[in-house]
Amino acid sequence: MNSDYLRDYAASADANALADGLPLTPLQKKLMGQVDEMGVAWAERAFAHDREASFPQDNFNDLHKMGFFGLCVPERLGGIGADYRTYMLVATRIGYYCGATANTFNMHNANALWTSSMVDALDMTPEQRAQHEHNRSVHYARMLAGSIYAQPFSEGSGAAAGRHPFGTSAVRRDGGWVLNGKKIFASLSGSAQYYGVLCTEDVPNPTMAHTLFMAIPADSPGLSIVGDWDPLGMRGTVSRTLLLNNVELSDEAALMPRGIYAQAASRYPHMFMTLTPTYMGVAQAAYDFAVAYLRADMPGVNVKRRMYPTKQIAIADMYIKLQQAWSLFHRTTSEFKLDPSRSERMRALACQYTVMEYCAEICSSAVKVCGGQAMLKTFALERLFRDSRCGALMLPWTAEICLDRLGKGLLYNEGEPRDDAV
Ligand SMILES: Cc1cc2nc3c(=O)[nH]c(=O)nc-3n(C[C@H](O)[C@H](O)[C@H](O)COP(=O)(O)OP(=O)(O)OC[C@H]3O[C@@H](n4cnc5c(N)ncnc54)[C@H](O)[C@@H]3O)c2cc1C
Repeated sequence: MNSDYLRDYAASADANALADGLPLTPLQKKLMGQVDEMGVAWAERAFAHDREASFPQDNFNDLHKMGFFGLCVPERLGGIGADYRTYMLVATRIGYYCGATANTFNMHNANALWTSSMVDALDMTPEQRAQHEHNRSVHYARMLAGSIYAQPFSEGSGAAAGRHPFGTSAVRRDGGWVLNGKKIFASLSGSAQYYGVLCTEDVPNPTMAHTLFMAIPADSPGLSIVGDWDPLGMRGTVSRTLLLNNVELSDEAALMPRGIYAQAASRYPHMFMTLTPTYMGVAQAAYDFAVAYLRADMPGVNVKRRMYPTKQIAIADMYIKLQQAWSLFHRTTSEFKLDPSRSERMRALACQYTVMEYCAEICSSAVKVCGGQAMLKTFALERLFRDSRCGALMLPWTAEICLDRLGKGLLYNEGEPRDDAV
């Protein structure tokens, strides 16, 4: 498919990037402009990556050339120094052109976003601070030199949902660590040079406070990638299974000091919604596709269908959902901070739920309103539809978990005992 129409339609996403009508910062404008320059090529490559379930290495080569491997690496360490909200905005634009690229780029980028200024604001000893400064400069230098970092946390148990400590264990031995365990859905598997895993220090009665965040080099003895990858959507993420069998790591592998991940996870809830922009972008892309299709504004579509009242109502309904999602997205991404208030925490969960579910609903409506010819594989829409269903499945904030936490969090104040069911 010729995706040139996106050059004009990206402007709609642009208008939606404004929060409260405020202009983007010069850096945000520049970064989103850089994505726009590459975006049409990424949208066209998405067909093959989806068909073959192959990782968009070509797009990552572009992202590396653009300096985006260091998007959230501080400027003083050679990166672009984008803050949380800037990343979130830029990622919506990447997702607009290619969902799988945005989804996987999120995994890489989170390894820098979470370990830079976010960590600096947490409680650490001077020794931890010094060690962290050393470690992150090593990891950031690798990213800037072209290494891709993945972030496989999931294990197929309740650990990634925050129910209990991770089953992957780290034993202290000879001044280093030995890791054993299994990680499922390791996006970027086979393409990443480092895998940022969460594991639990091998101590008696471990808790979440014993979680370690370690980067495993892809060529480590004992690390293997197994299983097939033939999923419904987000096929370009290539999220296969990692097996860790006595993988040896030095202290330098730590992406956060001991005990700090648990502190970050409880004090920065917004860190778990960095996949929302991917799906915000997919939702915008599906909406724009439907408008362009009904107006016959895209190559391969010669018949206008916009004159039918049913189409107009459906588009109006999609637009309303899209605007609701954008509004919540902007408000919530502007509320990122250490120790947010209860209502800010609740709103973040509501935002994640809204974006993930509305994205799937908007894509589904787009298929209905555009009709049979539009869902052929010559068009992007059927891929957007399949990709859109994946957002609500991402732990730790799946759509169901968001509802669960919202329900409890809204009816019980912090620390209030649970009532027995009658
Ligand atoms: C395309 C794709 C890419 C991914 N990439 C990565 C990655 O790079 N790194 C990574 O770590 N993971 C990744 N994941 C995995 C994802 O985050 C989840 O871990 C995975 O989808 C969970 O699958 P499961 O069948 O084990 O779900 P389960 O844990 O069995 O959960 C099934 C459903 O039950 C619900 N549920 C689970 N626990 C609770 C609870 N405590 N309370 C209420 N409801 C609950 C949730 O709604 C969940 O969707 C990816 C997933 C997909 C689809």
